[in-house]
Amino acid sequence: MSVISIKNVSKTYGSSHTAVKAVSDVSLEVNAGEVILIMGPSGSGKTTLLSMIGTLLKPSEGEVVVNEQSVVGMSSRELADIRLHQFGFIFQSSNLLSALSALQNVTTPLIASGLSKGKANKKAKDLLERFHLGKRLDNLPRNLSGGEKQRVAIARALANNPKVILADEPTASLDSKTGHEIMKLLCDTACDEGRAVVIVSHDPRLKDIAHRVITIEDGKLVHEEKGNHDPNC
Ligand code: ADP
Ligand code: MG
Repeated sequence: MSVISIKNVSKTYGSSHTAVKAVSDVSLEVNAGEVILIMGPSGSGKTTLLSMIGTLLKPSEGEVVVNEQSVVGMSSRELADIRLHQFGFIFQSSNLLSALSALQNVTTPLIASGLSKGKANKKAKDLLERFHLGKRLDNLPRNLSGGEKQRVAIARALANNPKVILADEPTASLDSKTGHEIMKLLCDTACDEGRAVVIVSHDPRLKDIAHRVITIEDGKLVHEEKGNHDPNC
């Protein structure tokens, strides 16, 4: 069953002579348990496409369907609710809240979805321990390494048990060993937990965890091939 379906989606920034068509007539189905890698050079429309999938950005044309429900016409409150419960977002620079500890960064989405502070703390601690960060719970982001920050970001993205993880260049600022570790964690979230993972990146190493590798050029999907996803990842 497809958890995400995007139909003939386009995005144009600006208007008239300054208009830039960043994404052009893209259609894509994403199934549960599937890791999809969308690759393309800088400026090809990857972030724009991922932002529309995650309902952070409204398409100029076309339709985004999440869990069989079209998001066209939804209020900003309904969209915020979909983002909180259906999606986990991971960005290149981890985007952790700098004034909050690792633990608090992970409890934030849990408390936003109505968990008590005690339950949120317990769940966040379990997640961080699973990612070997049990000794870093009280660290502020500036006192974490790049790989640790990205693991906190993955824990935060998983906090509300979303059906879909959306990752924008998740390995771009990491060395190759740390990048590999992050790839493995992303792969596990799909394999073990039946989540869909959509990654946009120009890092070809990510082909090793993807079921499908799609190439985007000038805002258009131009090619699709099978990835090297290892079922025992
Ligand atoms: P990528 O993530 O592949 O580098 P982006 O989706 O960020 O690509 O950008 C695609 C195109 O849209 C680029 O030409 C970029 O300059 C343009 N663009 C991105 N965001 C905006 C914006 N907010 N306003 C105007 N143009 C934008
Ligand atoms: Mg980008």
